Amino acid sequence: MPFESLSERFQAAFKKLRGKGKLSEEDITEALKEMRRALLEADVNFTVTKDFIKKVREKAVGEEIFGSLNASQTVIKIVRDELAELLGGTQSRIAIAPKPPTIIMLVGLQGAGKTTTAAKLAKKLKAQGKSPIMVAGDVYRPAAITQLQVLGKELDIPVYTEEGSTDPVQIAENAIPYAVGHLRDVVIIDTAGRLHINETLMDELIHIKEEVHPHEILLVVDAMTGQDAVTAASAFDGALGIDGMIMTKLDGDARGGAALSIKAVTGKPIKFIGVSEKLDGLEEFHPNRYASRILDLGDVETIIEKAQAAFDEESMANMKQTMKSGTFTFDDFLTQLHMIKKMGNVGSIMSLIPGIGKYKKELDKVDMDGKELKHIEAIITSMTAQERSSGNPKMLIKDSRKRRIAKGSGTRVQDVNRLIKQFTEMQKMMKQAKKAQQKRRGFIPRL
Ligand code: GDP
Repeated sequence: MPFESLSERFQAAFKKLRGKGKLSEEDITEALKEMRRALLEADVNFTVTKDFIKKVREKAVGEEIFGSLNASQTVIKIVRDELAELLGGTQSRIAIAPKPPTIIMLVGLQGAGKTTTAAKLAKKLKAQGKSPIMVAGDVYRPAAITQLQVLGKELDIPVYTEEGSTDPVQIAENAIPYAVGHLRDVVIIDTAGRLHINETLMDELIHIKEEVHPHEILLVVDAMTGQDAVTAASAFDGALGIDGMIMTKLDGDARGGAALSIKAVTGKPIKFIGVSEKLDGLEEFHPNRYASRILDLGDVETIIEKAQAAFDEESMANMKQTMKSGTFTFDDFLTQLHMIKKMGNVGSIMSLIPGIGKYKKELDKVDMDGKELKHIEAIITSMTAQERSSGNPKMLIKDSRKRRIAKGSGTRVQDVNRLIKQFTEMQKMMKQAKKAQQKRRGFIPRL
């Protein structure tokens, strides 16, 4: 998970504060020291870390929290706001041109994820009702052109290429009238990268920029390269001028140093983040929500958005009803697994629930792949109607019942046992989610 180590360290610091009741200035100093260490270990730029700590301290002093009863909650709120600021403040969207086509130029070093991101972005825009076209401008890496064509076919999105051409400027230039002629309203240009920043690369990109006047120049940077990503961003911005960043491979970056430093250093926002290799692994970046996630204050907005994208109104109403009633049966378990599965990885969705961080181990247990879902389906449908709708796993305590269910579903008794355990964990988490949501209305849940 992105920012995992930072998240753990910050939460540990907060736990200490919460255990204290009233806070003294030394308590804050101690907590700030821990946060400082956590940020530096997460590979956050030194100056950025120093500024962050200074701001939190100033605000804490300004709020006159010492000796007051809600001091720890106030500190957490201050840290959350500063963390959101560090990640970029408010969400930055891409600019859509008033008169189509909107031209988006993707730039970045080789291997950062440009080609994959071009396809992910095109998919996202198509889902929003746009008609994108992708332009294969990476002429020095022939595989990149084929890669883009394959992705285009998979997504049913056209790709503009010029066979045999070695002139990326010309290709980009020609692609625009082609897009207009084919009624495409967004043009995504995949440009060539190099292993290192050099003058030839920048000259070529500047040339393309001058010819096609993109509405958005987005730098694709690899989160896993840490501070190198920040250095690259400064260089690209200095030479070319960028409008924002797409930070890829955040799924493989437990530290998050680049994401936490890049806006402060370059002044340019992260607009999207790459969170998996798959084509739906691109998310709009919401600094506020991420700050809440890091501090385990939950990200209910993202859950709702994912749910809205995946389900119809009826399923949503059913899910709400289950949450409200507080009872949770094996039937509900199966329905919800189907629904959650549609939203993506089970564990990653559950991890957005406020206060769920301490259930990390349980989360890992409920994570499952498609094959396991089929097993679960077989096991639950082999139960009697009464067992399925009881919501009481104790009903299945007898071995004879378990054997009957295992036989009926073509599984083993240990599979049935595992399912019962998963069900119990899920039941526990549903209760926790309900409570946390209630508490959230009063702002911050206790960790
Ligand atoms: P390019 O040279 O910049 O065009 O990079 P590619 O698009 O070919 O990507 C390089 C590698 O990074 C590929 O294996 C991609 O699947 C992988 N990749 C890109 N974005 C992400 C991401 O957000 N998460 C993960 N895990 N892998 C990614």
